[in-house]
Amino acid sequence: MKDSQKELTALQAAAQGRCPRCRTGHIFTGPAYGLTRQKMYETCPHCGLRYEREPGYFYVAMFVSYGMIVAELVTACVATYVLSGGTENPWVYLGVALLIGVGLSPFNFRYSRIVLLHWLTPGLSYQREMMQKGSEPQ
Ligand SMILES: [Zn+2]
Repeated sequence: MKDSQKELTALQAAAQGRCPRCRTGHIFTGPAYGLTRQKMYETCPHCGLRYEREPGYFYVAMFVSYGMIVAELVTACVATYVLSGGTENPWVYLGVALLIGVGLSPFNFRYSRIVLLHWLTPGLSYQREMMQKGSEPQ
């Protein structure tokens, strides 16, 4: 059985950046961290789903990204407080916040769009027959 024919769970498909409809085709062209620009495919290379559902569709990913960065910053600052023994130096927290904000921005960019596509888009769900579509000879 080829790797592309294995059926993934929704969580596995999201973690691997796969299409929400067929869970086979990739959403992004390259890795999250690298020297190249993060670029999405316009349509799924496997089932042909158009990722940008309507003009401006990915603006909604900003709200997802906002929620993610707030959760990350609160976690990092609480961890800093606990690990540093309760320091009150604001520069420590500012440094940690900048490090987390800049370091995780490629991750947040990618996964805010993936979360939007997989769980926050009405009418877009997994269709098993779409997974098998591309594996058949044409
Ligand atoms: Zn697809």
